[in-house]
Amino acid sequence: MILWTFWPKNLEEVNFRKKGVSLSPDKSGRRISNFKCETLPRQRRVRVTEKIKRTNKLKFETKAIHVGQAPEPATGAINVPIFQTSTYVQKSPGAHKGYEYSRTGNPTRTALEECLASLEEGKYGLAFASGMAAISTVLNLLKTGDQVVSCDDLYGGTYRIFEKVYRDYGLDFVYVEPTNPANFEKAITKKTKMIWLETPTNPLLKIVDLRAVAKIARKHKLISVMDNTFATPYFQKPLNLGIDIVVHSTTKFLGGHSDVIGGAIVTSNKKYYERMKFCQNAVGGVPGPMDCFLVLRGLKTLSVRMKEHEKNARKIALFLQRHPKVKKVLYPGLNSHPQHKLAAGQMDGFGAIISFVLKSNLAGTKRFLSKLKLFALAESLGGVESLAEHPAIMTHASLPKNVRDSLGISDSFIRISVGIENVEDLIEDLKSGFASV
Ligand code: PLP
Repeated sequence: MILWTFWPKNLEEVNFRKKGVSLSPDKSGRRISNFKCETLPRQRRVRVTEKIKRTNKLKFETKAIHVGQAPEPATGAINVPIFQTSTYVQKSPGAHKGYEYSRTGNPTRTALEECLASLEEGKYGLAFASGMAAISTVLNLLKTGDQVVSCDDLYGGTYRIFEKVYRDYGLDFVYVEPTNPANFEKAITKKTKMIWLETPTNPLLKIVDLRAVAKIARKHKLISVMDNTFATPYFQKPLNLGIDIVVHSTTKFLGGHSDVIGGAIVTSNKKYYERMKFCQNAVGGVPGPMDCFLVLRGLKTLSVRMKEHEKNARKIALFLQRHPKVKKVLYPGLNSHPQHKLAAGQMDGFGAIISFVLKSNLAGTKRFLSKLKLFALAESLGGVESLAEHPAIMTHASLPKNVRDSLGISDSFIRISVGIENVEDLIEDLKSGFASV
């Protein structure tokens, strides 16, 4: 049974852990267990490597439930325990079992990090206390004077950390219209060190050609970073399209139940991983074990939820497109989306976020949103329950008004996150909102 790889199988392995314990990656760069691969005899090492290869062949749904999550050896608990501990007893100074202090490492977090890495098909995963802590840690790869080229349509909090935090430390940020990859190349200067992407973008749901922009980044030796929160690895795997680093707000679809704040980074680049792992510990934006457990539990049903989210979103996008009180619908799954073909070429599904513009003013839009009962008026997205929000007043208020206006985030612009309730009930709810416009 291959999955026992991730916990000690028997006393022999427990002894290995006591002897040479370390959480560092094996030679292929993959963290395979709670013990260092090199400490195993050669024959055993070959067997472990074989098991990893087979694990990598597992399908998405299976990995989400099993990778990093083998039954706990002491009791047989089927779920990864919540290791609610800050520290770990050492037999003699330095002789520990792979964990010294929970900011540095915690077994519940290790399980989550391994599972996230496998779902994004990357080598290394790092979990954080929030999406913003993950984003901040990626920015720790840069130094004063470096420049980031990014999209002109970004999550407001990402724009805020760029402009209101890291600009003060001497980083520079430029924003380009992201649907034409050439715009990124044109913006590159000697100072540029990183390209930062979101696709679908938030909240305009533009699609960035990941293969093309990753190629430009490689050509200019830049770090390419992609926030995959909206699509999730179920629908899009940026690392396989050439991107260096993926970030997530696990608060959203990965956690999936609106009950936890979390973030993650996945990469296959050892150098970037080691620096970010160092910063994870040095800066300390780590998630608690309970939060790691909640995200892990969310991951187990990610594939099932994403299918349902998308099925509902497609129906609602079509309903909105036909509605006489709707001026415009933005959803990459619609044929009318200007980049529908590109989306279909780099995504396995179109997700559950829809933006639309009402044929109304701010007062009418507020009435529409206040009337909804199933669509909760709340920031965030990606939970099982449907949410609606007003980007200009809520999530994107940190963008200056002239920037919002130039992008088309008007006062009658609405973003919804379609949940997995019955779609007919959701459509009835939207109808009641329209009746008030
Ligand atoms: N990235 C995207 C695309 C988001 O939508 C969000 C939050 O809404 C974040 C990052 C930040 O994540 P968190 O709220 O978990 O810090």
